[in-house]
Amino acid sequence: MILTDFDYVRPADLAEALELLAGTPGARVLAGGQSLIADLRTGETTAPLLVDVRRLAELRGVRRTEGGHLRIGSATTLAELASDRRVLDEAPALAAAARANGDPQVRNLGTVGGNLSAGGRATDLPAAAIATDARVLVAGPGGRRSVPAEEFAAQGVPAGSVVTALTVPPARAGAFEKTADRATRYPVCAAAVRVGPAGLRIAVTGATVRPVRLRGVEDRLRDGSFSTEAVLAAFRAEPRTLFVPGRGNSAEYLGHLAGVLTARALARAVALE
Ligand SMILES: Cc1cc2nc3c(=O)[nH]c(=O)nc-3n(C[C@H](O)[C@H](O)[C@H](O)COP(=O)(O)OP(=O)(O)OC[C@H]3O[C@@H](n4cnc5c(N)ncnc54)[C@H](O)[C@@H]3O)c2cc1C
Repeated sequence: MILTDFDYVRPADLAEALELLAGTPGARVLAGGQSLIADLRTGETTAPLLVDVRRLAELRGVRRTEGGHLRIGSATTLAELASDRRVLDEAPALAAAARANGDPQVRNLGTVGGNLSAGGRATDLPAAAIATDARVLVAGPGGRRSVPAEEFAAQGVPAGSVVTALTVPPARAGAFEKTADRATRYPVCAAAVRVGPAGLRIAVTGATVRPVRLRGVEDRLRDGSFSTEAVLAAFRAEPRTLFVPGRGNSAEYLGHLAGVLTARALARAVALE
């Protein structure tokens, strides 16, 4: 086991956390530790300092913003997210993605911010965040920013920054479907959708190079006919290079799987309308 020495600090507030990150090059944010500690053990990551943000009050809990959106603090655990009544009713794809995650121990410790920021590995929440049209709130050296979830998935966490929350416009009809890797439970492929007056949104993760919104598929399904045949045809029209072969799965197979999961998610979401 490679576990190099590091310092550990639990700051009193977000301002102190940002100061610590700015003051120590290579310092990392620690939340539930479900990815980071394993990566430190294997040597995949090293860090001179871990800044533990899990107990910061500003990062905790779910509340409603003045604009009527849900604000989900980044230190909210996946278990809390999966069982929160408002999230279940108004962002069902997010709740289902949190529930699909790992095992109960991981859901009890792993956080929203950590799952969104895990980078490198495909995780479940980013696709659901993209499909729900969520924005990621980030505090960093340049101040505070609100970034669309798709842009955040492409860029990752800026150096020295802390993800503080996810904001989500409420939409009743959404769903998330996943085929999990049997050993790890990470997604081989997962699809998240939102339907209804706010418009159709479809995102996938696992089978693609990163979590992505599928605008081409959305356009082909604009007429609202979500039969399995129509959805599979819409996926067949996507460039095969979108799907990244791996673990014995061809791009062809992953494209088909993404279509099947999307068709299932759409059927589930339409039933909630
Ligand atoms: C057995 C097992 C099964 C798993 N199965 C799944 C699965 O099915 N699906 C899935 O999606 N994931 C799965 N995971 C991954 C797990 O869900 C993530 O590890 C977890 O959600 C990460 O959250 P965390 O709070 O533990 O983050 P940490 O491990 O503490 O941090 C992860 C990364 O995010 C950064 N980070 C954390 N919080 C913030 C923040 N607020 N701001 C900026 N950066 C931050 C850290 O610096 C680090 O780089 C599994 C993990 C294990 C161990």
